[in-house]
Amino acid sequence: MNSPGTNAPFSRDDAEPMSRFRRILLKISGEFLRGDENFGIDPVIMDRVTGEIKDLVEIGVEVGLVIGGGNIVRGAEVQEMNRAAADYIGMVATMINALTMQGRLEHIGVQTRVMSAIDMNQVAEPYIRRRAIRHLEKGRVVVFGGGTGNPYFTTDSAAALRANEIGAEVLLKATKVDGVYSDDPQRNPDAEFHKELTYHQVLTRDLRVMDTSAISLCRDNDLPILVFNLDEHGNVMKAVRGEKIGTWVNREGRR
Ligand code: UDP
Repeated sequence: MNSPGTNAPFSRDDAEPMSRFRRILLKISGEFLRGDENFGIDPVIMDRVTGEIKDLVEIGVEVGLVIGGGNIVRGAEVQEMNRAAADYIGMVATMINALTMQGRLEHIGVQTRVMSAIDMNQVAEPYIRRRAIRHLEKGRVVVFGGGTGNPYFTTDSAAALRANEIGAEVLLKATKVDGVYSDDPQRNPDAEFHKELTYHQVLTRDLRVMDTSAISLCRDNDLPILVFNLDEHGNVMKAVRGEKIGTWVNREGRR
């Protein structure tokens, strides 16, 4: 593992680590950022999320972020044009969210870089893996915009891809529910909550944690996923501290 950010507590061998994970990839959907708005970004949600990311940086966690674009455009939902054309608009939408996130994070004093999978040189650095890792080592938050840069993919796949590339120890998938249920808990009161699952169970039971290509990529590279409720204040800190919240997905189906 690479050396931690500037004020990281991990170098103090005598101390209880403040975080279970040194480097994380946090995936936040565009829909989450929309909050109760019909479209775009709810500034209250944005401020709460950026505040919680700042808390992580302050204890020395290296934070990579992937933000979706579903609050603006989802290619698959656009009927009026070619799918690939709509997907490129979706990728640009993720850049709007990424740049907004950067602006708000820097406003509260968190150094942030946006790296784009599609060329946008005037507003963001191109995605270069080694450079991303260097930013993380320096304690900067890195927002990976533009998804994978390819149509027919989603930002879940981008999150799985970037998490593997940067050597994140966990992919934190933020949602508005506590984790993964056997069925929609709002429609079925008997829906069972899963605390732990294997990749295989997620795929074969079609549990829709993330899209299948994202799950497969995590499975093939043994990258654990934690699905958790970001709506609950303090949960992302609990997640990095290793508290048993949410649904944990890995090869063994055990934390
Ligand atoms: N997208 C894409 N390739 C990618 C990532 C995203 O084409 O690698 C497009 C796709 O149209 C997608 C949209 O960008 O629907 C927004 O991303 P996503 O749906 O994953 O956003 P979220 O649901 O997480 O808000």
